[in-house]
Amino acid sequence: MWTDTHCHLDAHEFGDQALTLAARAQERGVGIVVIPAVDRANFAVVRELAHQAPNACYGLGIHPIYVPHAVEDDLDFMREAVAQAMHDPRFVAIGEIGLDFFIPMLAEPEMREKQVFFLREQLKIARDFDLPVLCHVRKSQDQVLKHVRQLGPAGGIAHAFNGSFQQAQAYIDAGFKLGFGGNLTFTRALQIRRLAAELPLSSIVVETDAPDIAPSWVHPGVNTPAEVAGIGEALAGLRGEDPVAVAAATTGNALDVMPRLRALMPA
Ligand SMILES: [Zn+2]
Repeated sequence: MWTDTHCHLDAHEFGDQALTLAARAQERGVGIVVIPAVDRANFAVVRELAHQAPNACYGLGIHPIYVPHAVEDDLDFMREAVAQAMHDPRFVAIGEIGLDFFIPMLAEPEMREKQVFFLREQLKIARDFDLPVLCHVRKSQDQVLKHVRQLGPAGGIAHAFNGSFQQAQAYIDAGFKLGFGGNLTFTRALQIRRLAAELPLSSIVVETDAPDIAPSWVHPGVNTPAEVAGIGEALAGLRGEDPVAVAAATTGNALDVMPRLRALMPA
């Protein structure tokens, strides 16, 4: 059984097909799909979607790309939403949160500062509720880790990881798993493929980031959660390991880092 640890199933690209796509993923052996929120405005949407699809669950958080429009009151709203969601078995993590220093507008000094503020406040929420964090670390791997270490939430996932082996080890030491997706299916992605092949399997989870980061056989089309099965098989191929074993191991890793998922495991 595969677990898609990062899928924006509520994205507008999917129109009214979200539940159909979740069902198709299930047919491909994707037993769990984790849907992170990106903004206060979609908390209710991801919650509802996670309840409608038999194999889905969700996180709550404000994504760095949505930080420019976010206000401090959103953090109070989020803390309240998280407190309520603690009673909801489909709620599994804080996310998507993080820093994005790739997009030029977000990398400007004032916006960097605002991103850091929202990241730190959300890390505090994660720590206070003892929840793992789903982190966006684009061009910000060291910086996100620094704040994680200072504020100490209960581990998490560095999603779409694309750093060095040293950075990977630093995340692993902080109780994190590293998320690998469609990028590893491109032969030109040498560093990601080396990481995916050589890091300990115990540190790896798989993800689609659908509708983005389509694998090579879908690119430039719209990615969907069913593709995590093919991505996982490609990962197994790079490692020279049995896909069934890699599916079980990466799902086990997802359960380790998001313990609330255990309640949702298909019998
Ligand atoms: Zn994402």
